[in-house]
Amino acid sequence: MSGNWSNWSGFVTASPKRIASPADAGELGDIIRTAPAPVRVAGAGHSFTPLVKSDGTILSLEKLEGLVSHDPQKHQARVRAGTRLGALMHILQDVGQGLPNMGDIDRQAIGGALGTATHGSGPKLGAYHTQLEAVQIVDGLGRIREFTRSDDQDMIHATGVALGAFGVLSEVTMNNIATYRLRRRKWVLPIADMLRDFETMMAAHRSAEFYYIPFSGYAQFIASDLSDAATTARPTEDDEGSLRTLRRLRTGLAWLPSLRRALITGAVKKVPAEDYVQDWLNVYASDRQTKFNEMEYHLPFEEGPRALAEIIELTEKHFPEVYFPMEVRSVAADRFWLSPFYERPTCSIAIHHDAANDPLPFMRAVEPIFRKYGGRPHWGKMHSLKAADLKKLYPRWDEAMAVRRDIDPHNRFISPYMAGLFGIEP
Ligand SMILES: Cc1cc2nc3c(=O)[nH]c(=O)nc-3n(C[C@H](O)[C@H](O)[C@H](O)COP(=O)(O)OP(=O)(O)OC[C@H]3O[C@@H](n4cnc5c(N)ncnc54)[C@H](O)[C@@H]3O)c2cc1C
Repeated sequence: MSGNWSNWSGFVTASPKRIASPADAGELGDIIRTAPAPVRVAGAGHSFTPLVKSDGTILSLEKLEGLVSHDPQKHQARVRAGTRLGALMHILQDVGQGLPNMGDIDRQAIGGALGTATHGSGPKLGAYHTQLEAVQIVDGLGRIREFTRSDDQDMIHATGVALGAFGVLSEVTMNNIATYRLRRRKWVLPIADMLRDFETMMAAHRSAEFYYIPFSGYAQFIASDLSDAATTARPTEDDEGSLRTLRRLRTGLAWLPSLRRALITGAVKKVPAEDYVQDWLNVYASDRQTKFNEMEYHLPFEEGPRALAEIIELTEKHFPEVYFPMEVRSVAADRFWLSPFYERPTCSIAIHHDAANDPLPFMRAVEPIFRKYGGRPHWGKMHSLKAADLKKLYPRWDEAMAVRRDIDPHNRFISPYMAGLFGIEP
């Protein structure tokens, strides 16, 4: 079946010759071998970069979902790679397991989340791929291959973050933890205090992150810690209402920037603090309705405050159209070859731009700041880097590319975008 495909924000579109939904790994292998190239696998299409774009074949793994098996002693679960995180949370909770951490939403497929090193926040918490115990991959020749951490740790480290270019994950075994409860607190503070106390505040909690509200001078800090207390109601979230207000002030007061700033600051200072206890699966994810495009870079942890201060100054001087909060998180170092957290405790900074407007002038202006501080781009979010730049940022780049060639000798997974990223002659 041919058709049209678009990512979540609508920025990336494709008209592949074929969109295929295999029902098992065998059928997946047949399609990889015979369908029009390039063969790109989609998760939930929540990446902002053209990772999934193909005029050959786009694979949907919507039929490859659900629990395969679980081990209650080791808290391990094997799931099909098309399983969405929202479904995975309930599958795990039902067998007494929990994901140690999550990002901002639960809409991604686990295969897609792994593919771009999707992460949450927490100085000692790794991104999803750090939970991998084993992977089943269908390679570029259509062969089903299995790698486990105990037998071949290098192959787990090589293929755990792989942008859909090292074969298609059909099943993954993940190391989880016993179900748990979190106390989540949110409060507002001046950004100057946040930047001054950045290292201690981010390190003081199991998970901590903050949003800077542009043109306000204030940040909202969010801290989550383990708790044995009884659950309390999670306050109704009104992030969408707040965004609408920020957009109205941006548009209505374009010619009165000082009034805009005063009104935003007044409103942010009045945002009530939150404090509640809930089971893990009711805490992490939010519902994001307003479409945006996003750039996120992963910096050496200690560079976070300086980089953010420069980004705020640039934005407030030159980009009055920006109203989306900037998001700042921390992520633990890991050993995965194409992980942006490779051997580096990280501060991740994300900037967003309304999907109705061209994001590129803003992104192009901010990117040099990220790069100056040694940032590695989030694979699923906007950036302009190509193979020559990326090779310098990833010490095991050449080894990763050698593994890729072995898994996909005929470049079945290589689209023009992937060729630029990996330095492969189209
Ligand atoms: C509203 C919103 C909120 C977000 N929040 C966060 C966040 O909190 N933290 C964060 O880190 N990111 C976040 N992201 C980015 C998002 O998590 C990543 O881009 C993620 O990769 C998207 O998952 P997906 O299932 O949509 O995959 P897709 O975008 O469809 O695919 C991503 C990559 O994975 C590959 N892939 C997909 N399935 C497989 C498979 N089975 N085998 C091999 N490769 C595969 C694809 O080929 C592609 O290269 C957010 C994005 C949006 C739109």
